[in-house]
Amino acid sequence: MKRYSAFAIAREAFRFHSGWERAWKSPTPKAEYDVVIVGAGGHGLATAYYLAKNHGITNVAVLEKGWLGGGNTGRNTTIIRSNYLQDESAAIFELSRTLYEGLSQDLNYNIMFSPRGVLMLAQTEHELRAWKRTSHANRLAGIQSEMVTPKRIKEIVPIIETDGPRYPVLGGLWQERGGTARHDAVAWGYARGASDRGVDIIQQCEVTGIDKTGAKVTGVQTSKGAIKCKQLCVVVAGSSGVLADMAGFRLPVESMALQALVSEPIKPVLDCVIMANTVHGYLSQSDKGELVIGGGSDGFNNYTQRGSFHHVEETVRALIETFPVISRLKQLRQWGGIVDMTGDRSPIIGKTPVEGMFINCGWGTGGFKSIPGSGWATAEMLADGAPRDLAAPFSMDRFKEGRMIDESVAAAVAH
Ligand SMILES: Cc1cc2nc3c(=O)[nH]c(=O)nc-3n(C[C@H](O)[C@H](O)[C@H](O)COP(=O)(O)OP(=O)(O)OC[C@H]3O[C@@H](n4cnc5c(N)ncnc54)[C@H](O)[C@@H]3O)c2cc1C
Repeated sequence: MKRYSAFAIAREAFRFHSGWERAWKSPTPKAEYDVVIVGAGGHGLATAYYLAKNHGITNVAVLEKGWLGGGNTGRNTTIIRSNYLQDESAAIFELSRTLYEGLSQDLNYNIMFSPRGVLMLAQTEHELRAWKRTSHANRLAGIQSEMVTPKRIKEIVPIIETDGPRYPVLGGLWQERGGTARHDAVAWGYARGASDRGVDIIQQCEVTGIDKTGAKVTGVQTSKGAIKCKQLCVVVAGSSGVLADMAGFRLPVESMALQALVSEPIKPVLDCVIMANTVHGYLSQSDKGELVIGGGSDGFNNYTQRGSFHHVEETVRALIETFPVISRLKQLRQWGGIVDMTGDRSPIIGKTPVEGMFINCGWGTGGFKSIPGSGWATAEMLADGAPRDLAAPFSMDRFKEGRMIDESVAAAVAH
């Protein structure tokens, strides 16, 4: 595939942009692959990319029922940070954050990574203690994060009201090297890189059944016919329970909608990401000027990929107290995605009860930031047939063995 460069843009300008190739191919599925990945979200595509790049495994298909990146990967609020509490999470999220730093160069695709800093407010004594504990844990894990005072917070975010009537700002956990990236570009960049290395990305191809001989997976039934495979990796976020059901087992996940909204575009007022977990809201400003606003997930299980009025009202009402400046803004649009939540708010990466079938799910409200690290770890697992150090703690067995990786403080609301 031709490289994108300033020179290529200049060359194409002279020939009316007629020479650009399609970013990825759209092949007809083959009858059989070594590896079939279900779900062309960021995690599925990154897995395919690192399988090809790091392990030379290219007889791979990524099957997507809609369009690539059309699931949560194209619906999230793009927060990237690695200041999680537990060592196992810190390892995979920090690898991810580090990979994000060089991802545009690696993929030769501008993913618009913007390390603008992520600030998590403490608005109760309890939260202050929790963030202090997290900052100590981060220091022990070699991850940059620091506690900041209300005075420093006001310097970082001049629009904030730190003396709110109900929840004054008592401090915050600041990760200066966190930030955002363009979500579609992450999916498109991985798709282009994987396709260039020989991976088949097949859109409009829904998996409707999983074929087994005894306890071993042999292939999948799809809307484009049967496809055989030696290994199957299911990476479908909120639809994970549906795919597990097809294979004959249950997953310890719940699916529910998580919503977000954007305001009309305004002049730059906010140059970091800020989260207020006590009141259930967070915001950042997009490059176009819109305020990107999100809150907690719906309080009931559902498969609805859309927003609701009560959610907008709750989230905006919560944020106005701390950010009165947003009170007169108009909302431009809202949407929802189906997230897959585990009991300990940590993901599942590992083998399943079906031989040859692997799963990557349970990233819940916070799996955009982990796409590179998760793809890296899942590719290692598929190449070896078993998870390596990075993924091993996240096996499904932990729920039987009581080995939880409790990130409920880090992930319950904040992303
Ligand atoms: C509103 C919102 C805000 C969020 N904010 C953040 C944030 O700020 N930071 C952060 O880190 N995370 C955030 N997240 C979470 C993050 O978006 C997800 O954890 C992440 O994108 C999951 O990626 P994925 O590749 O696993 O899933 P997805 O991107 O959902 O991809 C799964 C794909 O599988 C496909 N699929 C499903 N069933 C089938 C089938 N039967 N056959 C074929 N294909 C199938 C779907 O169509 C979909 O494209 C947010 C999520 C939402 C909804």
